[in-house]
Amino acid sequence: MTDISSTKRRQSTKTSGYNTHPGSTGRNYKIERVDTFFLTKDQSIKIDFLIPPHNIGNFVGFGGWFFCDKTMDIKQQRGGFKDTILIIHQPSSWSKFGSMGVSSTTSNVLTTSIIFIALENTNIAFYNIDCGTVHHDKIEKVKNDPDVKDQLDNIHTYAPETNFYQTKGDIVFHNHGIQKSDNKTNLYLKSCNRCARFLPININNEKSHLSFSNHRRFKTLKHEEFEDILQLTHGFQLECRICKKLFVNIPLNKQRTLDQLREDATKRRAIESLLSELHKKNPLLSYNKKSKSLATDIWIKFNKRCFKCDTELNDPKKMNLDHTRPLSLLWPLDETATCLCKTCNSQKSNKTPSEYYLPEELEELSKITGLSVVELNLSVVNLEAAQSIIDNLDWLISEFCFNEDLQKNRDGKITAEIFLNSLQSALDKTDFGEKYNLLELYRNI
Ligand SMILES: [Zn+2]
Ligand SMILES: [Zn+2]
Repeated sequence: MTDISSTKRRQSTKTSGYNTHPGSTGRNYKIERVDTFFLTKDQSIKIDFLIPPHNIGNFVGFGGWFFCDKTMDIKQQRGGFKDTILIIHQPSSWSKFGSMGVSSTTSNVLTTSIIFIALENTNIAFYNIDCGTVHHDKIEKVKNDPDVKDQLDNIHTYAPETNFYQTKGDIVFHNHGIQKSDNKTNLYLKSCNRCARFLPININNEKSHLSFSNHRRFKTLKHEEFEDILQLTHGFQLECRICKKLFVNIPLNKQRTLDQLREDATKRRAIESLLSELHKKNPLLSYNKKSKSLATDIWIKFNKRCFKCDTELNDPKKMNLDHTRPLSLLWPLDETATCLCKTCNSQKSNKTPSEYYLPEELEELSKITGLSVVELNLSVVNLEAAQSIIDNLDWLISEFCFNEDLQKNRDGKITAEIFLNSLQSALDKTDFGEKYNLLELYRNI
């Protein structure tokens, strides 16, 4: 009779998140022979995870890898982890479980446990079962970057390989009466070319890829110490899934977000300038250039406060003038504008007033702006402006669209086409405008 261990007392370890190892190619493998235990039907092993003391807002995590020949009943006690504990359980392959999240407590108020119950006789092996506070420079950076922090929403599904432990917690194995097997279980580990960690892979079931996604180009692995070459069918990526996410995908997404913002700004500028030009052609069309006095007037009218959150804005420069009715529906910036703080303005974005404000706020907004509650509730196109576009269609397509700004090519897209697309969606909301196809007219010129 052997106990795996009753309690693993651990010393605190500190890491600065990850280490870069320029020497790691991501194409090396190792084999470990892992202690294995034999469970007869109904026997079970329970593992308790005791997260060490930490601060509110710290990342904490737990998890590990395991192997069993037969399907087991795996029960979980989630403790303080509100996110689902991911358990990948494939009999006769290496599997894993774990979670990670931002803690809302300073200590481990509840115990997190995993219980493996044998439904029939089975072997079971464990690898790197751990828990603790997690620190990774890159994750902290993403967490504090409003543009991309939502990319961490599913970070717990990357456990246990996301769990870069800073201080490890205690682990208690309840395995009394469990026999150690005579045989050990083979575990193949592959290196990551970013974090240089060796993480488990399945070589007989490559599709169950654990910490590395498949990649058909990289089908061979070289043993770390010997000349042995391991030939794979599907292959694995050079970097582990979490490194791929943190170092490749998130920065790419951020770039995409910035491009999107730039594209939006260009489009908005073009619509503003179109409305101003149309106003010159038809002075009856209401238009008020964003002048200094308009801004100050609005700021005073709104009591120098953000209309939505009531934050005091002690300088008109801190105010974001909002169109109230969306520019995308061809409403210019005029005396009906709303005074918002930067945060609220970016939340409102292109939403119509009724999509963003509560009914009582709409009533108050109506009093301040002079727009009726009905007008604020409707998501209507500025019909005068739409009509003026149709009246000046030739000029729009053959002159306005050919100004320098609109002829810029961004990532293979001509700004004029993006601009015409958004005008089209406004025109499509009117019965006289939907008959026209601006993009087709532009392309046929
Ligand atoms: Zn990695
Ligand atoms: Zn605000």
